[in-house]
Amino acid sequence: MPGFELFGDAERQSVSDVLDNGVLMRYGFDGMRKGHWKAKALESELQNTFKSKHVQLVSSGTAAVSVALASAGVGAGDEVIMPTFTFVASFEAIMMLGAIPVLVDIDSTLTLDPKAVEAAITPRTKAVMVVQMCGSMGDMDALKSICEKHNLVFVEDACQAIGGTYKGKPLGSIADVGCFSFDFVKTITCGEGGAVVTNNKDYYLNADHYSDHGHDHVGNDRGAETHPFLGYNFRISELHAAVGLAQVKRLPDFLAIQKRNFDIIREELSQISEVEFRTVPEGGEESCAFLNFFLPNLEIARKVSKAFKENGIDACFHYYDNNWHYIRKWDHLKNLKSLFPISEEVRKGLQYLETKTFEQSDNYIARNLSCLIKLSWTEDEVKERAKKMAKLIKENL
Ligand SMILES: *Cc1c(COP(=O)(O)O)cnc(C)c1O
Repeated sequence: MPGFELFGDAERQSVSDVLDNGVLMRYGFDGMRKGHWKAKALESELQNTFKSKHVQLVSSGTAAVSVALASAGVGAGDEVIMPTFTFVASFEAIMMLGAIPVLVDIDSTLTLDPKAVEAAITPRTKAVMVVQMCGSMGDMDALKSICEKHNLVFVEDACQAIGGTYKGKPLGSIADVGCFSFDFVKTITCGEGGAVVTNNKDYYLNADHYSDHGHDHVGNDRGAETHPFLGYNFRISELHAAVGLAQVKRLPDFLAIQKRNFDIIREELSQISEVEFRTVPEGGEESCAFLNFFLPNLEIARKVSKAFKENGIDACFHYYDNNWHYIRKWDHLKNLKSLFPISEEVRKGLQYLETKTFEQSDNYIARNLSCLIKLSWTEDEVKERAKKMAKLIKENL
């Protein structure tokens, strides 16, 4: 996955364009720019990548999720349904707006279980956020129809799934509003950065203004711009956008390498009858950023994970025991450890976490291993790795 593995002359040249004119800011300073508008150019590249009308770059994937929700009008006291298996950014971005994250079970896709979503809807529910974890996706048709039926905003966090598709559409472009991250370890990196993707012009204009202090971006005198509403600063810099612009042009190459490496390992592991791959919904194509599979039980998954680590198979994660991606280890959320007072509404809204259990999610995450697919491996290295992984799995069954 990480695009930084293949940094080269293109990235260097793009950053040096920005340093040559000295304009590190994405807005204004038209006369000094010598024609370089890296953030704007990256937004227009991404419109093609995501086959979407509008893209707003922001400072991170976490910011993208918050800006997307804010742009769709989600705020204080609103409930946002999200999965138990995701990145901590999901609940952070929701809580930043004073909204309440409602965590629900995942299914064998490793994303939202539509039945669990439907069961969690209350009169306060405003949005459903699917997180396309580890390069694959949820059942988008089922989730979309639930959102339409209940008049909810459908948000798609595709931070880990650039290049994946569902029924021919790029992941991140299917829901009402999509979010991407270009942080250092994502398939395309800016160092730090993110994007809000939508076909909804109102959401786009809201995201454009909100991520830059509410500036309306009319005319070319920033001081003369008006503020139709309150905003914040989630801008990306030209330096970051310059790296991303060089990287996004290489995306088709990155995806081809990812797929080659993924297919080699998947083919080898598919020879083992006890290995079961994640469910990919009909019509879905994974981005191949990760290969995810289930082992028969928690004990075996722990043994295989340990054997992988001890034998040089790096970057295979057992998220059941990992602090970043699964509810089981999020004590700071469950205990509401905040630096500043949290509103009574959110405090009450999160009380369910003191007692709620997630057996269905536990069952999938306990047995799952998630192996990062790197871009820098040669074909021979991948073949050797695949054989070694298969051997270690068999030895620990
Ligand atoms: C990386 C990631 C984010 C957050 O992105 P940052 O750019 O690191 O803030 C959000 N959601 C998911 C699923 C991610 O993997």
